[in-house]
Amino acid sequence: MATDRIVGIDLGTTNSLVAFMQGESPVVIPGEDGSNLVPSVVALDQGGKPIVGNRARNYLIETPERAVYSIKRLMGRGMEDIQEELKFFPFRLADDLEAGEVIRIKLGDKTFTPPEISALILRQLKRNADRFFGEPVTKAVITVPAYFNDAQRQATKDAGRIAGLEVLRLVNEPTAASLAYGLDRKQNGVVAVYDFGGGTFDISILKLHDGIFEVIATNGDTHLGGDDIDNFLITIALDDIRGDLGLDLRRNGEAVQAIRKVVIEAKIALSSQVSVKLDVELPGGERYLREITREQFEQLIQPVIDRTVGPCKQALKDAGLKPEQIDEVVLVGGSTRIPRVRAIVQELFGREPHTEMNPDEVVALGAAIQANILGGGSEATENMLLLDVTPLSLGIEVAGGVTDKIILRNSTVPASATQHYTTQVDGQANVAIHVLQGERELAKDCRSLARFDLKGIPPMAAGMPRIEVKFLIDANGILHVSAREQRSGKETEIQVQPSYGLTDEQVEGMILDSFDNAEEDFRRRQVIEARNEAETILTALDKGKKSPAWGRLTTNEKKQIAKMEKSLIAVKAEDDYRAIRKAIDALNQGSMRLAELMMDSAVSTVLKGKTMEDADVGEGPTAPHPVAKAEFE
Ligand code: ADP
Ligand code: MG
Repeated sequence: MATDRIVGIDLGTTNSLVAFMQGESPVVIPGEDGSNLVPSVVALDQGGKPIVGNRARNYLIETPERAVYSIKRLMGRGMEDIQEELKFFPFRLADDLEAGEVIRIKLGDKTFTPPEISALILRQLKRNADRFFGEPVTKAVITVPAYFNDAQRQATKDAGRIAGLEVLRLVNEPTAASLAYGLDRKQNGVVAVYDFGGGTFDISILKLHDGIFEVIATNGDTHLGGDDIDNFLITIALDDIRGDLGLDLRRNGEAVQAIRKVVIEAKIALSSQVSVKLDVELPGGERYLREITREQFEQLIQPVIDRTVGPCKQALKDAGLKPEQIDEVVLVGGSTRIPRVRAIVQELFGREPHTEMNPDEVVALGAAIQANILGGGSEATENMLLLDVTPLSLGIEVAGGVTDKIILRNSTVPASATQHYTTQVDGQANVAIHVLQGERELAKDCRSLARFDLKGIPPMAAGMPRIEVKFLIDANGILHVSAREQRSGKETEIQVQPSYGLTDEQVEGMILDSFDNAEEDFRRRQVIEARNEAETILTALDKGKKSPAWGRLTTNEKKQIAKMEKSLIAVKAEDDYRAIRKAIDALNQGSMRLAELMMDSAVSTVLKGKTMEDADVGEGPTAPHPVAKAEFE
């Protein structure tokens, strides 16, 4: 049974989480550091090993060229789709990208596709779950924004596969959040899900009928979230500092990071406290001190919060609903912890939103519930088939470059539809099927999803063949297209490989299985190397103790060295290479004077006519020893 365990994963723009069903209730699985949230940040250390989460954050500051965040923005997208993102984010693209190729991001001197980077995040979540259960987890449900198109959904599935997870289902985030609140049990009603996260704002209106969710409208702003609040506060602090202290720190990266840290802490504190003191140590020993009340804070950030109002109104309008027709409001995303945000939502929809659960965990918890349903662990399985809708229309290009829609936007998925076509020319043997996504009339204005040919149609007069094109969107929102000439039975079928998608072979090639082993191999090697080095320095120290220089040290110095020697011997027996390196460093530092004295006596020996070789300098503990630093912090 254990191997059939399925986890639920929220693969977020800012934070990612993994959860599972423990008895009757879903729970989040914490990481090694005890934190439920894994920041969606990936970095490559100097040794080329990927680092994920909180530890990768430091790289963002210290070696930004080796780190990447917000990768979700690039999932399943092509060069022309991401021009906007490039204005906002310091994504470093590979230099040799060709048109139509999957985007690759540079980390250090390596490049990765967005699904590979997401796979590293998923890999970390998987690892947390593996450790938690004491055995590997191989199956998952992953959430995606309701507005994700076919290519973005495919890319998410690819990421799962690359990470060694079988993705049983992709679930829309608002649907997962509604599930977490058990709203499906209400059978009927309309739910508004207000999701204000780190970098994005989404509003979704779901209709619940007979326990089935249908996304009837989505809207939002892909560049609006907690980051905007942070940046806003940083700007204010920088202005203050310039005004009060005459310091212009706008270009001082380190100072800006220090301020960022403090304002984020303040922002979070202000969600539960009515005032907080900002205290930032600035370069040159100056200090920026300021008290900020919740009232002031809320006034300051009002413009940011106000930007969520328009999309909400538009979503209601698209759904053809008035605020009073909304039965339930669900809050999702860390930024909805801000009391003012809650107040605005209440005002907008005229009812108190659900806040009983952690807003940054509800999506993962809902995913765990969905996973449990799929795994057959819930009695409600039968009637808990979850449905979503397709956000954009799908169709094909027909003569004259016109779009012919086959499945209309907002259709409930799984969905399928069929249209019939014929040929234009006598004896036409091949028909080109160009699959499109979008609402525009001309094919060139829609997104091209795929092209394929139906070949080998027997010669017939124009207009005679009867070509049936069938579109099927499966439960994951992924499109399958088939074309069949009915008179001859000729048929071609494809699962749409979205433009900018990876081929199966590419995904195969990216499977990160080896990473886990590589990590363990790497760690073992580090331990061995560190032990060898410890051995060397301890031998050298023994030699030093027998040299005349030893006698010239003070009792205290000798005591210090003995202490450090003892602790190095102790950690050498353990498996922690970082601890060994630390102890080596300490002993190297501590025996610096001994080394100097030995060097002195060696030099004076030389002056007395002996050669350096004869002089007993030993191998040290020669300071400063070029210790191979623990590069892999
Ligand atoms: P995403 O869905 O974008 O991955 P989250 O839902 O985890 O992200 O939200 C992250 C954002 O929530 C960050 O900007 C973070 O600073 C903000 N946040 C977290 N806790 C609080 C809090 N108590 N008050 C205000 N903002 C918060
Ligand atoms: Mg989220």
